Amino acid sequence: MISFSEALSMVIASSTRAMPTETVPLVLAAGRILATSIVSSQNIPAAPNSAMDGYAIHAEDVTSATVDAPTPLRVIGESAAGLPFSGVVGRGQAVRIMTGGVLPEGANGVIEVEATTEADTTVLVRRAIRLWESVRAAGEDIQEGAEAIPAGKRLTAADVGVLASLGVVNVPVRVKPIVGLLATGNELVEPFRTPSLGQIRNSSLPALYALCNSFGAEPIDLGIASDDREDLLEKIEQGLRYDLLVTTGGVSAGEYDFVQHALPDVGVAIQFHNVNIRPGKPVMFGVYDVAGQRTLVFGLPGNPVSTVITFQQFVLPAMRTMLGITEQPMKMTARLTSPINKTDSKRHFIRGFFSTDETGQLVVATTGTQSSGALSSVSKANCLIVLSENSGFQKPGDIVTIELL
Ligand code: AMP
Ligand code: MG
Repeated sequence: MISFSEALSMVIASSTRAMPTETVPLVLAAGRILATSIVSSQNIPAAPNSAMDGYAIHAEDVTSATVDAPTPLRVIGESAAGLPFSGVVGRGQAVRIMTGGVLPEGANGVIEVEATTEADTTVLVRRAIRLWESVRAAGEDIQEGAEAIPAGKRLTAADVGVLASLGVVNVPVRVKPIVGLLATGNELVEPFRTPSLGQIRNSSLPALYALCNSFGAEPIDLGIASDDREDLLEKIEQGLRYDLLVTTGGVSAGEYDFVQHALPDVGVAIQFHNVNIRPGKPVMFGVYDVAGQRTLVFGLPGNPVSTVITFQQFVLPAMRTMLGITEQPMKMTARLTSPINKTDSKRHFIRGFFSTDETGQLVVATTGTQSSGALSSVSKANCLIVLSENSGFQKPGDIVTIELL
């Protein structure tokens, strides 16, 4: 049986085909993956401007200004946001300036209005200022020629604002990978049906559908295949049209676990089946590469927790690679508050809930039952506690690695 890291390396090595680029309107870009880095064609701000409401002055004119002995300066005009002052500020002069107003020529600092008093055409300045005080330099936010946003970044709301300030209204992003999702099992009924005795609702597929959506992939619901070879082959073949095909169930040692046979039968070259992890050991992975169509195929175990965890551990890294995403999932360490019994040499993924204790340190507890059928334990979790192959029993107080969900 191969190790987790070997399996993950195989998945990543097979995910090299990058998703093509498309452009989307600025307001739809959040959550998408930037395809090419954005280099600024201009300084932001374009010209030096004021960070305060006040007066643009010469710092040298007010070096001896105090509350008791304010320095008088002659007010010669105004620079409001959008309405710059066109003249030059000479020695002994001041220009009234608003936040965002362009710093007029000659001035080398701004005194805030609170430290001044204006009467007639004179302003009294009650303190000295540093050179360039309260002035935002040209290019202080983004320099012309600098990389404003790197390729591979998942665009945030703030990125959308940066793109807007640079005038990038059509944003180059990666096309979303299309993921076919197929549940298998005679016992499954769609969630809107009432299960009869022995039936259960298909809970995994809607969870994977939601995971795809929140990750930035395009899910396609292929429905439920019964544990019947013909039905399986037909639905699997439908799924081989997409960038990825993810099936659930049918990969264990049971009498009706036909997926593991059906995948190679339709031409999927299996790279691994069974990985040294818990839960999720029976996970399968292969590549369908026929006549120009290339599909990464994941046969995930049926137990819903195993399904969700193997999706996160194997399918998301594949999509991350295809999308060129540079950020890796957050990993941290935390202090355990509940014991974990581990006696085997598998890598364990345990549902956990992390928080901070009274001293502000990260602590983590397991979320009750770790049965691989109990999807509620994932719903209650905000992280996975990852125990490596060679770790054993964990006692409260031990430091463990957590991955945020
Ligand atoms: P299997 O590997 O096909 O034997 O499935 C393992 C367990 O997971 C069985 O108890 C199935 O009923 C259950 N299961 C399989 N697929 C799903 C699904 N889509 N939603 C909920 N439970 C499932
Ligand atoms: Mg089954």
